[in-house]
Amino acid sequence: MEIYQGKAAFGGIAIGKIIEFNPKEELVRRERINDPEQEMERVKNAMEQAKSQLADLYEKAQKEVGAANAAIFEVHQMMLEDDDYIDSIMNMVKSQSVNGEYAVSVTGDNFAEMFAAMDDSYMQARAADVKDISSRVVRILCGKEDTQSLSEAGILLADDLLPSETIQLDKEKVLAFVTRAGSANSHTAILARTMNIPAIVMAPAKNGLSGRMAIADGFQGKLIVDPDGETLGIYQGKQQEEGEKRRLLAELKGLPSITKNGRQVNLYANIGSVGDVGAALQNDAEGIGLFRSEFLYLQRQDFPTEEEQFQAYRQVVQTMAEKKVIIRTLDIGADKQADYFDLGKEENPALGYRAIRICLKQPDILKTQLRALFRAAAFGNLSVMYPMITSVEEVQKIQVIADEVAEELKAEQIPYKIPEQGIMIETPAAVMISDELAELVDFFSIGTNDLTQYTLAIDRQNANLEDFYNPHHKAILKMIQIVADNAHKAGKWVGICGELGADLELTETFVNMGIDELSVAPALVLKVRKQIRSI
Ligand code: PEP
Ligand code: MG
Repeated sequence: MEIYQGKAAFGGIAIGKIIEFNPKEELVRRERINDPEQEMERVKNAMEQAKSQLADLYEKAQKEVGAANAAIFEVHQMMLEDDDYIDSIMNMVKSQSVNGEYAVSVTGDNFAEMFAAMDDSYMQARAADVKDISSRVVRILCGKEDTQSLSEAGILLADDLLPSETIQLDKEKVLAFVTRAGSANSHTAILARTMNIPAIVMAPAKNGLSGRMAIADGFQGKLIVDPDGETLGIYQGKQQEEGEKRRLLAELKGLPSITKNGRQVNLYANIGSVGDVGAALQNDAEGIGLFRSEFLYLQRQDFPTEEEQFQAYRQVVQTMAEKKVIIRTLDIGADKQADYFDLGKEENPALGYRAIRICLKQPDILKTQLRALFRAAAFGNLSVMYPMITSVEEVQKIQVIADEVAEELKAEQIPYKIPEQGIMIETPAAVMISDELAELVDFFSIGTNDLTQYTLAIDRQNANLEDFYNPHHKAILKMIQIVADNAHKAGKWVGICGELGADLELTETFVNMGIDELSVAPALVLKVRKQIRSI
């Protein structure tokens, strides 16, 4: 048994034979040509042909992985129109009288190196894109076909995969993607997630593994070659659990979350990290109803920068394509602590310095996060949500800060969009003034975990109080009804993102209360959908 530890790019278990996928690199030779003008014309025609192939690929990708993910092939078409790129190729053909294949290949390598050397991880990942378009043009110049096919199903192992190679593969035959290079940020990884295929990147697998039995564990980023009986048994068990999920998926995927008499509920997923988006998509969530952004702040030595946050938020909205992504601002404090916040010890941390209270007392922290969020909003369907609200004044203060952030980004000419902004209703105070709050915000999302804690005066962390922690308490249900009514009176939508949202015993009650959205753990999305459809 050999284990190669890579990086998880998309969760899922695959068991099968390894197929080494080495798309033949065109061996490009430098040749002297006699008529540079004619050669430049040949390159120009090849580029036109490449653009038309990319237009076809865009169509295919749009159908299979949605418009936002297909956009990469539009970007590729634009790259082929880039003046610097074209000039560099043409100058080489003209000044050195070399063949087009050589000029395109060398220019592609040079540009890829330039991108790879940049600091920004997003730009680094573009190195693969410029290589992709260059090899496409080279293939056309050499008169080679643009198709790569797999003869049987297996775990695909490659050094790296270009986005166009990924989308062209027969999805049915790819049990998992494993690449020796690549990054979790690359478009290939994003496409794998959207295509719902387990994926591992940066796996240091040796050459010559073709035909060997293996397990690809996309959750842990492990490729296990020639597994022993015990390991195989464990993974077969895991696969069976996955099978149950897949059956639900086959039954319910793509179906609306709608009751028999036509009441539709938006069924979203709760996530805590960028990596969880895969699980949300795998379970066919219709959006992200709660991204607990504080997890970006935990397990670190210092605050995440605006840029780091921007990259994370953008990746989530782009991966979710046009689906809604609600990102909650930092909810740190109480049970979620990070040393560098220096929060100090508190007698009653749950009633203490946490969430929006920290953000309002230290507005620079909120400003940095909002800058990242407003910038990411320009890339997809992003909404922002503020936690632990207890008063109108807090919302007004947030609005002043949000306005300042928008003004600053505008003055700095940084692309941004003002997103939909809502609040969490998770304190009894917020429930009681939800009529006033509804006038100020775009939506409510009810946090039943904290609402139960604060209403029943029960520390949600205290294991001794388990028996008393009753989210079905009439007080909680009445509060949810009040909030729903007040939201609707003001023409706003209302959701539930606390754990109670996934309580199948209450699904019908919530629908009858007029709840518009339920956001639940990814693994529960389909169970709730099934329940909604049975009402
Ligand atoms: C809640 O309180 O219900 C909620 C969704 O937020 P968290 O569990 O992160 O406090
Ligand atoms: Mg909460």
